Amino acid sequence: MRFAVISDIHSNIEALTAVFADIDARGIERIFCLGDVIGYGPDPEACVDLIAKRCEFTVRGNHDDALFTSADRFNPYARNALNWTRDRLAPGFFRPRANRARWEFLQGLELEKRIDELYFVHGSPRDPVNEYIYREDVFFNAEGKLKTIFQKVEHALFVGHTHLPMVLTDSLKSFVPEEDGASFDLEDDRYIINVGSVGQPRDRDTRACYVEYDAARVTFHRVSYDVEAVVAKIESRRALDSVLGTRLRDGV
Ligand code: ZN
Repeated sequence: MRFAVISDIHSNIEALTAVFADIDARGIERIFCLGDVIGYGPDPEACVDLIAKRCEFTVRGNHDDALFTSADRFNPYARNALNWTRDRLAPGFFRPRANRARWEFLQGLELEKRIDELYFVHGSPRDPVNEYIYREDVFFNAEGKLKTIFQKVEHALFVGHTHLPMVLTDSLKSFVPEEDGASFDLEDDRYIINVGSVGQPRDRDTRACYVEYDAARVTFHRVSYDVEAVVAKIESRRALDSVLGTRLRDGV
């Protein structure tokens, strides 16, 4: 079994297009998406359309979910961007016709997906949409948190949400990929794999991140894209705070 896992696109079509080109160049045919297709960025429509077309499944992220609930828990930048995104994507008589399909696609996102012994969620099995799993949980929350999460994992759990790529093992070891092409071999054990973020990396590497799974090996690929084009678009949209663009320059 060979596939790519992407997550946290956040309406960044430049990053998403570059990642799909990289996946295609490697001849990977199956693509799974761990959610947060929208939020923060300037191009929700194009990202939803491309994800809906290319991904075998997409699970629901907290930003996707907030379209249909509320963005009150978000910080002001995220909340303003989410409300702006909702205005653009909501279907209606005077709205673009394609919005209906986009809205229904996002509304229909499933909370989690399992394929054999592989498990896919945005956040965590205990709270698929909202809970964060951090590398630091190994030191501070191993007993109460990680152990109960690993109980729900047969072999490999793929998550996004923190925008920080890593692997955790159930023996509480962690692996952080520090370069493009860094890989980790999965043995007969249990793992949590965070695939990083396509559209808003936060590990100080500005390149888009995704994971390739191939015969029990996960490889973290980093893909350069036109960050400045996204920064300029964010500048031009009044509802989007410019910090949402400038943070992309620093990868934070
Ligand atoms: Zn996210």
